[in-house]
Amino acid sequence: DPDTGLAPLQFTVNRNLQAKSAEQRAEILASPGFGTSFTDHMVDICWSVGGGWHRPRVQPYGPLSLDPAAAVLHYGQEIFEGIKAYRHADGSVHTFRPDQNGRRLQRSARRLALPELPVPYFIQSLRELIAVDGDWVPSGDDQSLYLRPFMFAKEAFLGVRPAHKVGYYVIASPAGAYFKGGVKPVSIWLSEDYARAGKGGTGAAKTGGNYAASLLPQSEAYENECDQVVFLDQDRNVEELGGMNVVFVYKDGTIVTPQSDSILEGITRDSILQLAMDRGHKVEGRAVSFDEWRRGVASGDIVEVFACGTAAVVTPIGLLKGKDFVDEQPIGELALSLREELTDIQYGRREDKHGWLVRL
Ligand code: PMP
Repeated sequence: DPDTGLAPLQFTVNRNLQAKSAEQRAEILASPGFGTSFTDHMVDICWSVGGGWHRPRVQPYGPLSLDPAAAVLHYGQEIFEGIKAYRHADGSVHTFRPDQNGRRLQRSARRLALPELPVPYFIQSLRELIAVDGDWVPSGDDQSLYLRPFMFAKEAFLGVRPAHKVGYYVIASPAGAYFKGGVKPVSIWLSEDYARAGKGGTGAAKTGGNYAASLLPQSEAYENECDQVVFLDQDRNVEELGGMNVVFVYKDGTIVTPQSDSILEGITRDSILQLAMDRGHKVEGRAVSFDEWRRGVASGDIVEVFACGTAAVVTPIGLLKGKDFVDEQPIGELALSLREELTDIQYGRREDKHGWLVRL
């Protein structure tokens, strides 16, 4: 690697002798859904104190053998990433800003006292998987192959300390269009009783525990006929949804998004805001109080609110609901136009001015 001087890992590839047939694969890719089917292979790299990163392998997708005392099962020392591979019209496969996901995985690792996988190894791990499972990248409208890198403590030890043995894996799952029949605005439930993160906590890390903590409030959202839940911090500032960042568009074209140490910094958000800046929008990352949101919508100062993340890209927020109020949200054009610009770049339909695409 030119930046780090790291030599690439030497992967061993163990082919899956029970790989799906081309017909079986075609059937899955015809309507992939999300997160239910997986490709034929996975990446598996070991790490240990003293041994560093070793035994890099591509192997048949299948169950992991885990000691019941593996630390992850008890203390949740785990992190993950989510990134997509897109098929372009010429058949080539690309991913989007993998350096950013690689760096975020490193930040998550630091917070969870896990080893930091060098970014070149992260990108190589995606490439190695696509090299064997490239045929799994679908070519239909808005379809992609969702890549899920993850790392966890596999040492069998019940003491509470950072594990000395860790596994890093990448699995891949074909993903269909998130919204069938066009993007539709989502409804949001305000979580009053539960927080997702606290000051000094793990909110900025992509770690399983944050998502475990979001499940009960998310069920509350469903009970109240809402699609997603929005979390506030202790000072009633807006944080984010369970799996997406929030963005506000003001009347004068200014775009504002919550900035805090306990939010997961989304790569979709960063990219969308860059595209908006390219168009001349002023962009601010700052604290946004829940009052500012409600007052802004009531007064007409806020003209659009949307959510963004890798899975759904950009989704307008159409409704905000709490225990004692229901606020309709203004629907504008910017969210969908930025969504289109971003997906055009990702699918190779528009010039990639920022050099965000990486061919796998
Ligand atoms: N916040 C949370 C809590 C998330 O899980 C995600 C999805 N990774 C995001 C925001 C959006 O991040 P990204 O745009 O990188 O997918």
